[in-house]
Formats: sequence, C-alpha cells, structure tokens
Amino acid sequence: MNETIEFTKGPLALTQNISVAVFDFDGTISTLRCGWENVMRPLMLECIAGGGEPSAALKEKVDRYIDESTGIQTVYQMEWLAAEVAAAGGPQRDKWWYKEEYNRRLTAYIAAKKNALAAGAAPPESCRIAGAAQFLRALKNAGVELYLASGTDHADVCEEARLVGVYDLFTEVRGAPAHAAACSKEAVLRLLFEEKGLAGGNVLVVGDGKVEIALGHAHGAYTLGAATNEAARRGVNPVKRRRLIAAGADAIVGDFTCTEALTALFCPESAAASRK
Ligand SMILES: [Mg+2]
Repeated sequence: MNETIEFTKGPLALTQNISVAVFDFDGTISTLRCGWENVMRPLMLECIAGGGEPSAALKEKVDRYIDESTGIQTVYQMEWLAAEVAAAGGPQRDKWWYKEEYNRRLTAYIAAKKNALAAGAAPPESCRIAGAAQFLRALKNAGVELYLASGTDHADVCEEARLVGVYDLFTEVRGAPAHAAACSKEAVLRLLFEEKGLAGGNVLVVGDGKVEIALGHAHGAYTLGAATNEAARRGVNPVKRRRLIAAGADAIVGDFTCTEALTALFCPESAAASRK
C-alpha cells in the first residue's frame, strides 16, 4: 500500500466498492477560503478589544477559540464573538451583524482569487488540494455516487465548486441555507445521511474537519481524514492530523496524489477488474 496513506487503526481491507462518498469542501477539496483565519482573527481582536491594542491573553483566547471551532458554521463563531464583545463592555450586536461583517471582509479577501479563476488567469487546480479532482473522477468512474456537503452558504459553495472545476462531478452539492442557524454542517450531513439512507461500510466520508469525521464514524462509515496543508496544497498538516485521529478517522492523507492507492483501497472490485 502507498506509504502516503496512514492507517490509524491498522490496515483497512474492503472487499466491495463503496457506493457513496461524502466530501467536505473547504480545506478538503478547495483552498479558495484558505486563510479565513487571517480574516476572523483580526475581526475578533478588533471587536473585543474595542479598537484598542489587544492583550496577549486576548490573542491567546481568540487563537484557541478559532482552533477549537474550526469546521463549525460561521454563525456560531460569530455568536461566541458577540457574547465576548458584550462581556468586554462593547456594543450589543446581533450575531448576524458580525457574520455579515465577517463575510464582507472574507469576500474581499478571496475576491482576487475568485476573479483570477473566473477570468481564466489562474488554473482551477491552483485552488485545489493536489489530486482532489483526480480522486473524485476515479471514484465516479468506479460508479461511486458523490456528494458535497458544506457549512458554507449554499450559493457560495456551488459557485466555488464550479470555479475550482469539481461541481459537475457531484450528484448533489449541499451548503447551508442562508440565514439558517439550525443548519450547520453537521445538520447538512445528518439530513443527507437520513435522506439517502447512508450507513455502514458502503459509505466513505472525506474531510479535514472533526465534525464530518466524527459523524461518519458514528454512522459506521469509512472515514478518510484530509490533514491538508492549504497553503502548500500538498503534504500533511500535523495539527489537523491529530484532530482528525482524535475524531476517529480510519486513515489519514495530506493530499490525494496517491489517487491510485486510494481508489484501489475504497473500490477494490474496480481495481481488480482493471487489472484483468
Ligand atoms: Mg473543511
């Protein structure tokens, strides 16, 4: 087996192809929103410190919260921010106010990347984790039904999936409905599992967040933790790796450049047929 796949609980030995794979988007396939922490961190520090110089303790608190909350829906992070601002004696503002301000800043931050992709000035793979499209295509060719589930607003995830060139590979792309706090990524995933009757060993969940890995694990699916380095688009991110193993990931990769080994692992029947 390719050494770039790390098995956390001993080797996986599937005898049948998986029939469904559920992928997370941001950080797993797309790097368009890479650097969102560079937008959220100053927003949080600025709002909690009321425009003053943030203390070292505040910086540490914000960094810890961002690290812990990675992968949850933005509005919950903004709910935390609103409470912290209020506790620090700042203005009483709605979580949606913060979410809109964060989205405005993030949109400006990633606009340059989106514009370059839309204009064809940057190739779609420049905003994809290495090997992601190849892995998706190999699974699709093996007859696997592909779903994309994201906590990002639905319209944004559809647009971004098109820009990075993977939209058409999916049976369905699902994001969070606008202004629906109850529809976190976890809720999107739960609904998808319920509606499609997904359970057990015919399902693969692939993601860089603890939410999708823990949920997949709880449903008895195979879980592939994508411990991606979003800046480099390849190689293993040790912080994500630890988080994904703790969430119950069966296997870890840093990217999908070991496409053949991954496909042979999760679609052993197709791999055997192609060898004949
Ligand atoms: Mg993610």
